[in-house]
Amino acid sequence: MFEYAPAPESREIVDIKPSYGLFIGGEWVDSQGEDHHKTINPASEEVLAEVAWATEADVDRAVQAARTAFTTWSALPGSERAKYIFRIARIIQERSRELAVLETLDNGKPIRESRDVDLPLVAAHFFYYAGWADKLGYAGFGSDPRPLGVAGQVIPWNFPLLMLAWKIAPALACGNTVVLKPAETTPLTALAFAEICRQADLPPGVVNIVTGAGETGAALVNHPGVDKVAFTGSTEVGRMIARSVAGTRKKLTLELGGKAANIVFEDAALDQAVEGIVNGIFFNQGHVCCAGSRLLVQESVADEVLDALKRRLSTLRLGDPMDKNTDIGAINSAAQLAKIRELSEAGVTEGAERWSPPCPIPDRGFWFPPTVFTGVAQSHRIAREEIFGPVLSVLTFRTPAEAVEKANNTPYGLSAGIWTEKGSRILWMADRLRAGVVWANTFNRFDPTSPFGGFKESGYGREGGRHGLEAYLAV
Ligand code: NAP
Ligand code: MG
Repeated sequence: MFEYAPAPESREIVDIKPSYGLFIGGEWVDSQGEDHHKTINPASEEVLAEVAWATEADVDRAVQAARTAFTTWSALPGSERAKYIFRIARIIQERSRELAVLETLDNGKPIRESRDVDLPLVAAHFFYYAGWADKLGYAGFGSDPRPLGVAGQVIPWNFPLLMLAWKIAPALACGNTVVLKPAETTPLTALAFAEICRQADLPPGVVNIVTGAGETGAALVNHPGVDKVAFTGSTEVGRMIARSVAGTRKKLTLELGGKAANIVFEDAALDQAVEGIVNGIFFNQGHVCCAGSRLLVQESVADEVLDALKRRLSTLRLGDPMDKNTDIGAINSAAQLAKIRELSEAGVTEGAERWSPPCPIPDRGFWFPPTVFTGVAQSHRIAREEIFGPVLSVLTFRTPAEAVEKANNTPYGLSAGIWTEKGSRILWMADRLRAGVVWANTFNRFDPTSPFGGFKESGYGREGGRHGLEAYLAV
C-alpha cells in the first residue's frame, strides 16, 4: 500500500468577509430585520461568516428593484444582453479557483469535485445561455418570444453555485430579472456571484440575492410582484409551493427529489459499471437529486458486482474536503446527517444488511461513511425514500421486464442508469423507464445543452438546453 501525503488546497485565495448584507438593486444593503445567521464549514464546524436573514419587507424591496430593472433589461437587444452574460461567464472562469474553494468551505464537498465538476459546469451554463440571448426567435417558441418579468428563484444546498447558474443564466438570456434565495447553509458563493454581477457592470436590479431561511423563500414565492417561480429542493416544499402558486398568474417550474435506479445487466462491462455505481451514489456524498441510490443488479452477476464494489469502496478516502485526494467530503449539515442516520437505522430495523468499509471518521464536523445495504426489499423505507446521502440500496432482478418494473416502482422519476453492451437493450429500456434522464453506460453526466427534469413527484419543467428557455418565456 502506498500512503497518501496530505495535499491541501490553500484557502488564501478567498477573502470571506465577517458579515454580509443583502444584494438589492446592485448595492449591498442591510436587512430591515434584526436576524442574522452564521454559516459554517460542515467539515470543521468553524463559523465562516454571518449573513442577513431577509424579511418580507426586504424581499419586497428586492422584487421592486427587479421590477424597475425589467423595463430596461427586457428592452435591450438580445445581442446586448448576451455581452453581459458572456462577461459573467468569463469572470467565473477567471475566478474559478477562488469560487471552488469557497464552495468547498461552505458546503463540505471535496475540492476535486467543486474544482473539476461544479465550476466548469457553472461557466459552461452561462456561456451556453449567453449564446441563446440573440437567437430566441429561432428556439421554436415563435418569432419574437417575450420574457415573463420578475423570476423568484429558490435553490438548495447540494450544488449551490451550479443551481444558481441553472436558474439565473436562462432567466437573464430570455430578458427576465431575478430575485434569488440561496439555501441557508450555503449562501457564500451566491454572495460572491453578486460581486461578479457588479464586476460585470450588470445593470442594477437585474440580479438580486436575498439570503435567509424557509420563510424568506416563502415570502419570495408568495410575493404578488413575482411572475415566475423556479424552485429546486425537496418534494415536500415543492408541494407547498405548488399549492400557494395555484390560481395565480405565476408560471412555475419544480425540480424536486429522486430515487433513481442504476441497472446493471450481466453483459455489462462490470468494472466500468462498478465505477458508475460509485459515481452514481457517492459523488457529492450522495447529496444529488438524480443519485443512483437504488442499484438493480442482475442476479447472475450480483455476487461478482458486490465483491468488486466493496473492494472499490475500501479505497475511497473520506476526510478533509480541501485535500485534493479526498473522495468523500462532509455531510452538509447536522440536520441532514440526522436524516441519513435515521433512514439507515430504519434499513437495519426492517431487515436489510448494512456494510461500510473500515473508514476513520474525523472528530469534528458531520460525516457519514459510504454505506451499502443488501437484502433490500422494495417495501423497505431505504428503497422508497430519498436518503440524500452516501447510502446505496441493492436489489436484484432476473429479466429486463422485472428491471423496468422495479425501476419504475417509485413515486419519483428524475433519472435512471443502464449498464449493458447491447444498444437495442438500452433503447428498449429507455423507452419504458419513467425518468427524465436516462444514462447509458455512464451516470451523473451533465451538459448545459441537455434538458434535465422529472416525471411524477420529481417535479415539472425542464432546465438546460433549448427546453430550458421555455420556462422563462411567455409561450
Ligand atoms: P428544501 O428544504 O426543500 O430547501 C430548498 C430551498 O427551499 C432552500 O433554499 C430552503 O431554504 C427553501 N425553502 C424551505 N422552505 C420553504 C418554503 N416554505 N417556501 C419557499 N422556500 C422554502 O430542500 P433541501 O433539503 O434543502 O434540499 C434537498 C432536496 O432538494 C432533496 O430532496 C433533493 O432531491 C432536492 N434537489 C432536487 C434537485 C433537482 O434538480 N431536481 C436538485 C437539487 C436538490 P432553507 O435552506 O433555509 O431551508
Ligand atoms: Mg455552510
